Amino acid sequence: MQILTSYVQGRFHAGSGASVTLYNPTTEEALAQASSAGIDFKGVLEYARAKGGPALRAMTYAQRGAMLEALSKAIHAHRDELIELSIQNAGTPRSDAKFDIDGAIGTLAYYGRLGQELGARTFLYDGPGVQLGRTARFWGEHVLVARPGVAVHINAFNFPAWNMMEKAACALLAGTPVVEKPGTPTALVAWRIAQLCVASGALSEGAFQFIAGSVGDLLDHMGPQDSLAFTGSSATAAKLRGHANLVRNNVRVNFEADSLNAAVLARDVEAGSDAFNLFVANVALDMTQKSGQKCTAVRRVFVPKERVDELTAEIVAAANAVKLGDPSDAAVRMGPLASADQLRDVRAGIERLAKHARIATGGAGAIRERGYFVAPTVLVAADARQGAFHAEEVFGPCAVVLPYSGDAHEAAELVALGGGSLVTSVYSNDQAFLETAGLAIGAWSGRVWLGSDKMAEQSLAPGMVLPQMIHGGPGRAGGGEELGGLRGLSFYLQRVALQGFKGVIAPDSLCVSRSAAPTA
Ligand code: NAP
Repeated sequence: MQILTSYVQGRFHAGSGASVTLYNPTTEEALAQASSAGIDFKGVLEYARAKGGPALRAMTYAQRGAMLEALSKAIHAHRDELIELSIQNAGTPRSDAKFDIDGAIGTLAYYGRLGQELGARTFLYDGPGVQLGRTARFWGEHVLVARPGVAVHINAFNFPAWNMMEKAACALLAGTPVVEKPGTPTALVAWRIAQLCVASGALSEGAFQFIAGSVGDLLDHMGPQDSLAFTGSSATAAKLRGHANLVRNNVRVNFEADSLNAAVLARDVEAGSDAFNLFVANVALDMTQKSGQKCTAVRRVFVPKERVDELTAEIVAAANAVKLGDPSDAAVRMGPLASADQLRDVRAGIERLAKHARIATGGAGAIRERGYFVAPTVLVAADARQGAFHAEEVFGPCAVVLPYSGDAHEAAELVALGGGSLVTSVYSNDQAFLETAGLAIGAWSGRVWLGSDKMAEQSLAPGMVLPQMIHGGPGRAGGGEELGGLRGLSFYLQRVALQGFKGVIAPDSLCVSRSAAPTA
């Protein structure tokens, strides 16, 4: 059986003692074991601070960008092997495996290019300067400088490649060494990527460490210049938020937690129109892609009350047209859930929702003899305000159709009952509906995706997280923010207000050879 090693303090470490077993969720066969026992976690942070930080901070943005581009290429060169590992350990069909792995490759390449564009500078200006004195002699500038700390990244099981590398890309470009910990049940892909990154020779010393298994007492040793970015359930996020050492040292934290994402169909969208087809296709895609184990997947589908039966029938037909089965079969589009724990949780979640809604298709029952499979499940509710639909994240191929009046304000109010989401999609060809719903929902959703006939042909699905746009959401969704081009670097940088003689601090003066013009 494969033993997943950690990569700490410049070498691979095989954990001793109790380990966690990773399974193939299609066959339920044991695949690998992970254990971080024996790691000196305090030493991990000290090593990153002593070696990783100084080496990265000595590099310009262009040099760090080149490093990210080299990592992107190193992963791309092993794309097929990684897809195969994803099929085995995450139960993802090839298309879903690509979604994760290409996401990692593309995000690294994007931030690599951004670094190259920033060029030979080691810090960034943030916005225009301000005159502070009677004349421009006394001047102010906001500048973003690298912090001499470590970025600890705790990632969820559902995107072992993308989740690890989107965080690493932003931190490394900002000049911060990383410690990456993937979700253990699907860590095989992340572990192989860690090996590839190390073998590429592109990483500066101490820039990257990887932990297979638990983070042990790592968080107890984090300090005021360190940062923790977490992706996972809101239950774990709540535990980490209250961690005594993180609170004591005011460690910077960013939480990406679970989310009851919504889709809203307006009354004006006619059956058979491009916007209508897009709505049905996107809801079915979100339910079945990665077997619904996507933080951005739609869970609540709001449709005008007189169209519930029509829309339910369309969604059921589209979801059931997706071939379910062994993900190594090229014709299969939906595999099993990633783990036995996931299967237990999803079944229990469907049963809880079914107390308040009728099941139009699917359900919690077993559908195959072996493997952690659940059928695509569409529920239909009579009362859109029933609390369970806005509180229960069933992290699987499951969505609930909920009736509303067709009024944009009411749609926004219902979306808000979820307490904060990562993404809400709104489908209409009516400018007033899109504006009203979109802006009202904006306060409750990190991203609002506006679907219409005009953009249907070119659109990327709402569940897709793009490095150019921010990812994160308020309230229940964690209250965090990642990516968004240069915005993604801010979490790792210190914004400092420089005040003094303009001739010293304005962009054409301050370290002119290293930082040419205002950016950020
Ligand atoms: P999880 O159980 O909360 O675990 C997330 C990560 O936290 C894993 O690496 C886990 O390690 C680690 N962890 C658990 N307890 C910990 C503790 N006490 N101290 C330190 N680390 C701890 O979530 P999951 O099941 O992996 O992921 C599914 C959830 O993530 C869903 O709710 C989904 O909505 C959410 N998610 C959100 C986003 C987003 O961007 N907002 C993206 C993806 C997923 P082990 O695996 O070793 O237990």
